[in-house]
Amino acid sequence: MKVLQRIPLVDLAAQQAEVDDEVQAGLKAVFASTAFIGGPDVAQFEEGYARLVGARHCVGVANGTDALELALRASGVTPGGEVILPANTFIATAEAVSRIGARPVLVDVDPTHLLIDPSRVAEAMTEATQAIVPVHLFGQVAPVELLEPLARSSGAVIIEDAAQSQGASRHSRAAGSWGLAAGTSFYPGKNLGAAGDAGAVTTDSAEIAARVRLLGAHGSAVKYQHEVIGMNSRLDTVQAVVLNAKLSRLERWNQRRRAAAANYAELLANVPGVELPRTAEGNIDVWHLYVIRIAERDRVLRALTDAGIGVGVHYPVPVHLTAAFAHLGYSAGSFPVAEKAADTMLSLPLYPHITLDQQEYVVENLERVL
Ligand SMILES: *Cc1c(COP(=O)(O)O)cnc(C)c1O
Repeated sequence: MKVLQRIPLVDLAAQQAEVDDEVQAGLKAVFASTAFIGGPDVAQFEEGYARLVGARHCVGVANGTDALELALRASGVTPGGEVILPANTFIATAEAVSRIGARPVLVDVDPTHLLIDPSRVAEAMTEATQAIVPVHLFGQVAPVELLEPLARSSGAVIIEDAAQSQGASRHSRAAGSWGLAAGTSFYPGKNLGAAGDAGAVTTDSAEIAARVRLLGAHGSAVKYQHEVIGMNSRLDTVQAVVLNAKLSRLERWNQRRRAAAANYAELLANVPGVELPRTAEGNIDVWHLYVIRIAERDRVLRALTDAGIGVGVHYPVPVHLTAAFAHLGYSAGSFPVAEKAADTMLSLPLYPHITLDQQEYVVENLERVL
């Protein structure tokens, strides 16, 4: 097959071109000052990101997995506790729980949006449940309002995994502002991406924010006074420079993602055998990923890859079927919706700077392959 065009799954070069001048100037200042940890750039980002989310506090950390671990620990999750999370998520959600010594309790997702299914959460709650972690997958916002009564009646807390939903909202409330705390990731490919690893915890609670800061700084609020065993997880100053430049463009970029998603919906409307992603009632999604579902996914994936089109699968193996989490004791068939999704999902290229031409090319090839 002839490759006419190469279309990546995510195009970071176009983003970088927009912010390059600002980033270079900011980095130059950081290197001139040699103040690489903390400082005004980090404080500015934390304030700006808290404002975006509508949370009182934001604490920058080293990556999204740390953000989740710190949010859970600061909110009272302890070794031996149970934390409920969806089977269809990136492995990091479960890793954060395990690193505390708590037990990930997986539940299936709803068949339409592939988000945590509140009725399954209700069934999975026990006396040991300490937290529920809705994952706002693909740029959506999970129906957190349906989890709130469950959490309230049991004393469990809600900690959001907001790594894929920066700028998204549900009933006018932003992802990352629903739970007692939320963790997010600024991995380069996320809607708001750093130049390397970075993450943040958002919360309305001054106490939780202070605890996250303490735990992320070796358990120490005052230098060399270590109150608890913490870890080293900080947002680097150079990453804050990059994130500040991109944060001011995030809403515009998310708007462009929404426009691109609308284009796909139109272009794919009459393609038989393709199940399109749907926006839940009340949601303004930010389309971190555009995930269709099709039969014969692997054949289509290969053919599109051969045609130079950057397609992906998020995620090909649900958490309970990974080798890493085999010890939890689930098996094939435990979560049928998540398992079927893993076999049929296909992420099409989508990023703020994708052109209509590129999208048409993706859809033409998809039609041909089908
Ligand atoms: C990216 C991601 C994370 C983890 O973030 P890192 O910064 O890579 O540690 C956690 N959960 C979800 C859903 C993610 O997509």
